[in-house]
Amino acid sequence: MGKKYGVLALQGAFIEHVQVLRSLGVESVEVRLPKHLRGLDGLVIPGGESTTIGKLAVAYKLVEPIRRMAEEGLPVWGTCAGMILLAKDIGQGRPLLGLMDIVAKRNAFGRQVDSFETDLLVPELDEVSIAEERGYPFHAVFIRAPSIERVGNGVLEIACLPDGTIVAARQDNLLATAFHPELGGDTRFHRYFLHMAR
Ligand code: GLN
Repeated sequence: MGKKYGVLALQGAFIEHVQVLRSLGVESVEVRLPKHLRGLDGLVIPGGESTTIGKLAVAYKLVEPIRRMAEEGLPVWGTCAGMILLAKDIGQGRPLLGLMDIVAKRNAFGRQVDSFETDLLVPELDEVSIAEERGYPFHAVFIRAPSIERVGNGVLEIACLPDGTIVAARQDNLLATAFHPELGGDTRFHRYFLHMAR
């Protein structure tokens, strides 16, 4: 049987992730209720508004099953708000899933520059790159983005801004990106996630 990937579809940029996954030829389903988690091979938690997504996830009783499945090894990828929901530490406030050993800082880039785009060098993506893509920077869109202030032991930093701010990391089956890889047409991060999930 083919693999099936879920995208948490409570609020935010879930449609775009579903479309990218489908464009890569994999089955992708919107997750709104615990029963939609059954049989998944990976789960994407999209960007949006982390407080809203968190409240809805609690209301729909999704938090415990997602946490349990991730602890059992389900690949989970949090982008932007999704990364905040994955983090063990978010400074002020209570973490939601508390799965990944990172300190995430909400709205880390302040108001005046709260959205920007930049090219990132991400050597990890070479694993899934075709010849023409290899070594090519990833064009990343940051929308009122968080940053990763610190990573714990066993967490691999996979992308930083020129000033050293960490904006993507991986810990075993968990992937976090502070930006929105579903925008911009470069599918390498999605392919990287599918590769992790194999
Ligand atoms: N600033 C948002 C939050 O804190 C995240 C923004 C995004 O996901 N694009 O929830």
